[in-house]
Amino acid sequence: MNLSTNSNIALSPKALRDGQNRLRASLESLKGRLLSPEALLQGQQRVLELVARNASLKETLSEIARLAEEAFPDMSASILYFDPVAQVLRAGGYGRLPNSFAEAVEGMVPGPNMGSCGTCAFTREPIISVDVFEDPLWIDFVGLCKDYGIRSAWSTPLIDGRDGSLLGVFGMYYPTIWSSERAVDISFAQDFHQLATIAAERHRDEERSRYLATHDAYTGLGNRNLLIEQGEALVNRAVSTGSPLTLAFIDLDRFKPVRQQFGHAQTDVIFAQIATRMRERLNCAELLIRFDGDEFVAFLPLAMPDAKALMVELAKDMAIGFEMAELNLQITFSCGLSTYDHDTSDLDMILIMADEATRVAKQLGGDMIVIADQTLAARAKSRRSIRKMLEVALETDAIQPFYQPIMNLTTGRAKGFEALMRITDEKLKTVPIQDLIAVAEETGQIHRIGLKMFEAACKTVADPSDPLKGLSVNVNISVAQLLKVGTTQQILDSLARFGADPARLCLELTESQWLDGDGAGRRALMELHDAGLKLALDDFGTGYASLNYLRSLPFDIIKVDQSFVKLIGQDRQADALCETVLALGKACGLDVVAEGVETPEQLKALTDMGFELGQGYLWSKAMPVDMASKWLTESIQ
Ligand code: C2E
Ligand code: MG
Ligand code: MG
Repeated sequence: MNLSTNSNIALSPKALRDGQNRLRASLESLKGRLLSPEALLQGQQRVLELVARNASLKETLSEIARLAEEAFPDMSASILYFDPVAQVLRAGGYGRLPNSFAEAVEGMVPGPNMGSCGTCAFTREPIISVDVFEDPLWIDFVGLCKDYGIRSAWSTPLIDGRDGSLLGVFGMYYPTIWSSERAVDISFAQDFHQLATIAAERHRDEERSRYLATHDAYTGLGNRNLLIEQGEALVNRAVSTGSPLTLAFIDLDRFKPVRQQFGHAQTDVIFAQIATRMRERLNCAELLIRFDGDEFVAFLPLAMPDAKALMVELAKDMAIGFEMAELNLQITFSCGLSTYDHDTSDLDMILIMADEATRVAKQLGGDMIVIADQTLAARAKSRRSIRKMLEVALETDAIQPFYQPIMNLTTGRAKGFEALMRITDEKLKTVPIQDLIAVAEETGQIHRIGLKMFEAACKTVADPSDPLKGLSVNVNISVAQLLKVGTTQQILDSLARFGADPARLCLELTESQWLDGDGAGRRALMELHDAGLKLALDDFGTGYASLNYLRSLPFDIIKVDQSFVKLIGQDRQADALCETVLALGKACGLDVVAEGVETPEQLKALTDMGFELGQGYLWSKAMPVDMASKWLTESIQ
């Protein structure tokens, strides 16, 4: 124990112990006089109840302070807690001392000569200041002591019993010079000290789990939860005060190959370095978030030109490169900037605009900063309203499959159907399905939509009335959905739940993003294929699909994109492409479907080429299941 004093009244640890022992005997009677054991017990219960119902730390510590003051009528308690992030003491619980005292000590940095509490937090040892007017520890705080009638003080640290870290400081202030009789206080105060430790430990645990829930483990940057928690308030504050605020959406360019080359562990090291560079350059940011994988969002308290200049500096910092496995990795980013105005003053919209601007930067080749303008704002607004309508559609079952027949060109009969997403909601009906899908892919709604569509198809094929007469149903699945952890299992679960025969279902892979032919996507496709589902590669000729895809992934069907079929018989290159894909498919043992057949001329050209399967308005548009069933019955007759 540190006994800080300039005078000779210092108590040695031994003297203190002896004093405690001597006085312990009379403690019971003393307790009786000052605070009855029943009252103490009741007080303790009150405090523990506060802890149990997660009352604020200040409220709990103030209850403890008041309870301690009941026990020691001339003493004023001050309980401070230590903020490990800012490394300062925060005003905690007070009884007699007024708010102004709490404000005066708020944010105190632990250190030598910081009064008894600040010094105690620094040394982590109890401290008694016998006379604060004479004690060098208090030299800078004599005025404060005079203001609040403090003459002597006793401070003891609150230590986390589990890891020895500092939780706070329990301080007792007296209006008179410390006398040795007060040693009994120290012993008696253990009860309150212990309560304060419990409350502070609980608070620290909550802070820790809150931190983990709101921060990214690898970079220490905030995560989406923190953005949701704090972003709106930052925007509202800027809007109401008219202060500048620019959102920077930062998306690393072509990062996927880096991840593939280095693997996850090393990539995390790169991310940590990137985050450090961002944190240093964007140190004025009010919020810096790792938004999603290789996307970051910074809330900059700057007007647009300054924000742009800062991002240019960040681009220069990044251009230095990153050392990894004896390589100097060059990483660039695309950045979208947006701010609020009278039309756009909510976080959601500002974020969507920044994202939209980033998308433009990417489309222009990356390594670029784009400022969101009115056109982008309009586009962003339309996306947002689509997103909201989709949300409603998902909740209200307004999303349903319509079935379009896939024809056997030789027999002229349907071979199967493709389930296409249709919306029964009047407003959304006007939006092209492809636009809906694009928004759903961005927002992640595609997972729920995809599952809904698959479940509906399962229900149709398992329906005992067999509306589609034993024919198969193709369901579209986007790469984004396929790559999501858990999708494969959900699909298999749906098959089992509805009792649908997997051989009657085919998944058409729509390629909105690149599918890694060796990684998780391949594993998912393999698993689904092994479960008996057929797989089709949709819109062949337009996406990223390469011959390698056909070699390494277990497709059964290729669907030639309608843009080629449309030109058949009119464009030699389109003819050549259709012929080549057909030959390729046949050589690989795959079925080849021509999509978008509208005219008898196209049909003739296709059959002349040797196509055996086709789909298009020539036969029928997509129909609700009952109509499809009727169509099928009529077409067989
Ligand atoms: P897709 O899978 O290639 O589907 C064929 C699209 O071509 C459908 O458009 C269909 O209505 C249209 N189509 C069929 N025959 C003809 C024709 O003769 N002429 C013309 N001009 N068009 C024809 P739709 O329903 O608007 O769907 C567009 C795309 O949206 C689909 O292309 C597919 O990529 C995607 N999609 C539709 N439903 C879903 C779904 O449930 N999940 C996912 N992930 N994507 C879906
Ligand atoms: Mg399709
Ligand atoms: Mg297609």
